[in-house]
Amino acid sequence: MKLIGNVIISDEVWDTKFDCDLTKCKGKCCQYGDIGSPITEEEEELIKKNLKNVAPMLSEENLKLLEKGITIKDQRGDLHIVEGAHNTPCPLSFINKEGIVMCSLHDYCLKKKKKVLDLKPLWCSLFPLIIKNTSVGWIINCYLPEFCKSKENPQPLLLSFSEYLSAIFGEQWVEAVRKEYAKEGLG
Ligand code: SF4
Repeated sequence: MKLIGNVIISDEVWDTKFDCDLTKCKGKCCQYGDIGSPITEEEEELIKKNLKNVAPMLSEENLKLLEKGITIKDQRGDLHIVEGAHNTPCPLSFINKEGIVMCSLHDYCLKKKKKVLDLKPLWCSLFPLIIKNTSVGWIINCYLPEFCKSKENPQPLLLSFSEYLSAIFGEQWVEAVRKEYAKEGLG
C-alpha cells in the first residue's frame, strides 16, 4: 500500500503495468459486467441534459431505452447505467468501423473539445482503476478482467491514467507519483 498525498494506492495498482489497447480488447468493459456501470445522481443529470447531443450516435432502440430512464438501482439503492440486456454493449455506446464498442459521451467531448471528465462518468473514465472517496481519504484499487488487453511494454497503470488523475488530484499529485516510481526504478 502507498500513500501519496491523501490518496491510498493498493499494492496491486502500484505494481501493475498496463495501458489499455482498444484495438485488442474492442471496448469490452462497456459490454461485460454484473450490472451497468455505477454512476452518481449528478452524472445521471448531466447525461440526461446531453442525451440529445449524443443521440445521433446511438441506435434507435438504445435511445428509446435511455429516454425512459438512464439508470436503475441495485439492491443497495446505488445507481447504475441501464442495460438493454445483460452483457450487451452499454446503451450509451456505439460500434465503430473496427468493431470497437465506443462511448458516445467520450466521443462527443472530444469532438466538442470538452473535458471528458465533465460528461463521462468517473467509473467509466478510470476503469480498470477503481477510485473511492472515503472517510479516510481517496482509495485507488483496480480490477483487471480477462478481457482487458494492454499495449506492448506498458507503463505503470496509474501513469496510463495520468491525464484524468491529474484532473482529479492535481498535476502535483501525479508528479509525486512519477517521482516515487522513478525512485523505485519502476517508471
Ligand atoms: S457510459 Fe460510456 S464508458 Fe460508460 S459503460 Fe457506457 S459507453 Fe462505456
